[in-house]
Amino acid sequence: MIIKPRTRGFICTTAHPAGCAHQVQQQIAYVQAQPQINGPRNVLVIGASAGYGLASRIVAAFGAGASTIGVYRQSNSSETRTASAGWYNSAAFEKFALATGLQSYSVTGDAFSQETKDRTIDLIRKEMGPVDLVIYSVASARRTHPVTGENFNSVLKPIGSTYTNKTVNFHTGEVSLVSIEPATDKEVLDTVKVMGGEDWQLWVNALQQAGVLANDAVTVAYSYMGSEITKAVYRGGSIGQAKDHLEATACQLNDQLAVHGGRAYVAVSKGLVTQSSSAIPVVPLYISALYKVMKEQGLHEGCIEQAYRLFTDRLYATEGTAVDEEGRIRIDDWEMTPSVQDEVTRLWAELSTENIYELTDLLNYRREFFQLFGFEIEGIDYEAEIEQAVTIPNLR
Ligand code: NAD
Repeated sequence: MIIKPRTRGFICTTAHPAGCAHQVQQQIAYVQAQPQINGPRNVLVIGASAGYGLASRIVAAFGAGASTIGVYRQSNSSETRTASAGWYNSAAFEKFALATGLQSYSVTGDAFSQETKDRTIDLIRKEMGPVDLVIYSVASARRTHPVTGENFNSVLKPIGSTYTNKTVNFHTGEVSLVSIEPATDKEVLDTVKVMGGEDWQLWVNALQQAGVLANDAVTVAYSYMGSEITKAVYRGGSIGQAKDHLEATACQLNDQLAVHGGRAYVAVSKGLVTQSSSAIPVVPLYISALYKVMKEQGLHEGCIEQAYRLFTDRLYATEGTAVDEEGRIRIDDWEMTPSVQDEVTRLWAELSTENIYELTDLLNYRREFFQLFGFEIEGIDYEAEIEQAVTIPNLR
């Protein structure tokens, strides 16, 4: 079929296999151009098909030569539909890994279910041996509880009072005010159930009980802090409560793993264009301003640069893993630099539809959004017929 982007708000319902493969190849090339990492050997990445999870898997495999298992949602193509970008990304990852002689496997399914955990454990036992790094990078709007079968939906809302701020339609560049009603107590609790640390804890428990977690294993989940501008809708909002829970889970897991020489961390990382972040009100406009300022100050990073720096300067740094006073890895340090935050705040006050392209990097935000789905990439012929059915080698 000839594949064109089809968008509904912040969702793109189509993806281009050649474009996605190109994006993965670019990330691999970035890592291969950096010094090799003396890092993990057997790595499990949960939420491995896009964003931070995919970048972490690429760094582990192509930067440290590790064997990897990627867990992600099943989303294959049909006669009339493309597969998801995550499917095409993973197909490309597995093919490049195979060609490079790296051991790698994909497990598709619901990461929240016991069945997916069991299948993954089985695979580790049969094919890989104990894992010494577990990256948890699931971003989801809903979760079915593996024991009770209850369904939970996460919301992106402030807590306590209505929040009003600028937002942008990144397709048109129109800046407007958005007001978001506060989350109910139940919505906050449900958001914690979806995006908090419970499932991460269940994964680590299951791996440990099955004897497939190495004694010195490290586990990392991604968190976000962000600026004062996004505080009401992010860190101070319902998702922030989930991140607080995730960070508290890291402390518990650290105690649990430290007994055998292991460690658990939350890595607070930078705001970036991903499928998940584009769904949060206000955040795309903040990220557009942030990109502009960080590029001007020579501090800009994408997922792959963040993941590489996480491995080399933090997790596997010879001088040990630097953490903040709450035990968190701060790979958002450059985003939070006062010179960056002050400038973004200054721009924010002036932002309007009239000056959006001048004061922010919205043009690139929009391009990067489409590139997440394999579109708007130079050198790809989007008028050409392409087979939408792509198989993933080593799929379990
Ligand atoms: P993403 O949307 O790019 O990727 C999410 C991944 O989760 C995908 O691989 C998807 O397949 C997987 N996934 C979702 N539901 C699943 C399920 N039920 N079963 C199996 N896999 C499932 O998201 P992202 O932005 O990379 O977010 C990953 C983590 O990083 C999140 O915890 C997020 O809060 C955090 N983070 C993101 C940013 C940002 O700006 N994007 C910044 C800091 C931290």
